[in-house]
Amino acid sequence: MSTEKFDKAKSNLPVRGFLKIDDLIIPQGEALVQAILDLKKEKNAVILAHYYQPPAIQDIADYLGDSLQLARAAKDTDADMIAFCGVHFMAEAAKILNPSKKVVLPDTQAGCSLADGCSGEGLRAMRAKHPGALIATYINCNAETKAESDIIVTSSNAETIIRSLPEDRPIIFAPDKNLGAYLMKKTGRDMILWDGTCIVHEAFSMERIAQQLAANPQAKLIAHPESEAAVLDLAHYVGSTSGLLNFVEKDDAQKFIVATEEGILHEMQKRAPHKKLIPALVFDESCNCSECFYMKRNTLEKLYLCMKYELPEILMDEELRLKALKPIEAMLELSTTIK
Ligand code: SF4
Repeated sequence: MSTEKFDKAKSNLPVRGFLKIDDLIIPQGEALVQAILDLKKEKNAVILAHYYQPPAIQDIADYLGDSLQLARAAKDTDADMIAFCGVHFMAEAAKILNPSKKVVLPDTQAGCSLADGCSGEGLRAMRAKHPGALIATYINCNAETKAESDIIVTSSNAETIIRSLPEDRPIIFAPDKNLGAYLMKKTGRDMILWDGTCIVHEAFSMERIAQQLAANPQAKLIAHPESEAAVLDLAHYVGSTSGLLNFVEKDDAQKFIVATEEGILHEMQKRAPHKKLIPALVFDESCNCSECFYMKRNTLEKLYLCMKYELPEILMDEELRLKALKPIEAMLELSTTIK
């Protein structure tokens, strides 16, 4: 490959999000999987993947998990390179937690409606409006937003953490208003909510899910707390990504209507092969809205390219990293008992 072609691909990275090198032949099928495994050995790399990733990526990962599990895995790895198959804020969190490692992401355009809709500046303005408040921020946010927070939460530990915050301090919760409202109901704590939502979870239709339940009277509805209150009120079980997986595995029911990102069904079906899993329906009958468009930007080809050329890489200013690390460490300390 000519240096010229590589340089052109590199200069297009900020806009495109991944390397697209003219005339480069990328292995396909089994050969592609083998090439990724070879790169893993050659570079002493670890592949971390979120449950919402395309099945082919989940199957090749060394570690599959939700945000909390992946943050821990990133912190503890002794690999030289972390190939993070998830969205941008997750790869950023891996870099914050383990700065000496090279962190690469298949596609930097893999964003998140929650992370993209909340800024450090916005949180600073909220803090100024509510002096004395503590800021608890969902991990689905960028490094600048984390740096302005007092503590980070994930859907696995949010309830425990909110309950642990001093009762005499008001709480600002960002950026997911649905998760925030759910936590207010669960903990009885009044919170000031940032007005953000997940485009995937807000797409579920309470009316259409009610029809699914009527058509499947033996089925249990399970939902992620990023969903709207009307859906959560209907649900037999509400829980984090890991919570939903464990529930399906252990519960006696044989049929589940699943109100969260569809990628989870791949691992769910592996863990409960004889159970029937039905994706919950969304408002728009013509769209695949329960698939996260951002998560699905990552492909095996892009994973191969980012490992081979070690680009795109997550880089971060050290001062910002240290500020963002503090609230993540506060979270990890308070969630040692959560798996
Ligand atoms: S599913 Fe929602 S919260 Fe998760 S990455 Fe996609 S947009 Fe963000």
